Amino acid sequence: MSPRVGLADVPALLGEIRTGRRVALGRAITLVESSRPEDRSAAEALVASASSVPSQAFRLGMTGPPGVGKSTLIEMLGLTLCEAGHRVAVVAFDPSSVRTGGSILGDKTRMQGLARHPSAFIRPSPSRGMAGGVGRRTREAIVLCEAAGYDWVIVETVGVGQSETLVAQLVDFFMVLVMAGSGDSLQGIKRGILELADAVIVTKADGTNVERAERTRAEHARALTLMPRRLPQWAPPVLKCSAQSGAGVDALLETMATYRRQLEGAGVWASQRRDQLVAAMWTAIEHGIKDAIASDKEIAAKVASSETAVREGKLSPEAAARLVVQGILVR
Ligand code: GDP
Repeated sequence: MSPRVGLADVPALLGEIRTGRRVALGRAITLVESSRPEDRSAAEALVASASSVPSQAFRLGMTGPPGVGKSTLIEMLGLTLCEAGHRVAVVAFDPSSVRTGGSILGDKTRMQGLARHPSAFIRPSPSRGMAGGVGRRTREAIVLCEAAGYDWVIVETVGVGQSETLVAQLVDFFMVLVMAGSGDSLQGIKRGILELADAVIVTKADGTNVERAERTRAEHARALTLMPRRLPQWAPPVLKCSAQSGAGVDALLETMATYRRQLEGAGVWASQRRDQLVAAMWTAIEHGIKDAIASDKEIAAKVASSETAVREGKLSPEAAARLVVQGILVR
């Protein structure tokens, strides 16, 4: 274990991050993910300084069920980008680790080629017992990666709970991966996720899968035309690709480049980032209130008695919530 990072260590740590030391970046992310209240002031100071480092990064979000091919595609995309002179960071948004201390994303055997590349940084999912603010602190981890000079930050998640919605709010471009064959009845994919997608990718379009992949592509393309667009400037395409053969990977990169050009041209790239900052503020407010409730004995007692009253039907949930909120406000 490296020593605890205090407020006084922040400038030196940021300096090390900016020189590209991966160990320093790893330590910094551990600091922001820490659930210990005493780590928060250093973490916030670090992220605030890191935010002022100029960055032109592309934030790419990726979701899809386990086995759809996320890590294989990230490896292929990541290596292609690194070979083209970019620097690529990969972070996982893994809500399961918050709840259980376990992890459904990321073990050491994933993305081995990319992990060895000098221009890549892969943040492994936390091991049991280490998780605190994973997910909740992903935005801060992205900012730290960018301060370290990574101009592509890939945020990966599996469809658990609200994770797709949360990740879509953290990235510039949100990619939804679907399996060839899954489009036959659009089963296994929630409509709400498709509405968030800036592109839908049919994976494993190779070998005996080629025809099935085309059917899946056409099915999803039809479905998307019936859905409201997230942005008037962008019609999300459905693309096929094979991370194994590399087919379709260049088209995917071109799509993202076109997206960026179009959004920047319309001023939407920057406004989307600003909207996301405001959304992050509200998320932090919600967490802050929950933290305050948990750490204040009097309020925590009030919450506990309100829960009992709601359970016993003596108070409506709305009335109980109002009492709790009033209790917080008068403090
Ligand atoms: P993840 O759980 O979404 O990260 O999925 P993985 O990337 O680990 O892939 C799951 C399985 O699908 C692995 O056995 C991969 O080798 C395989 N796979 C991934 N991409 C492709 C592809 O493009 N073509 C084929 N045929 N298999 C693939």
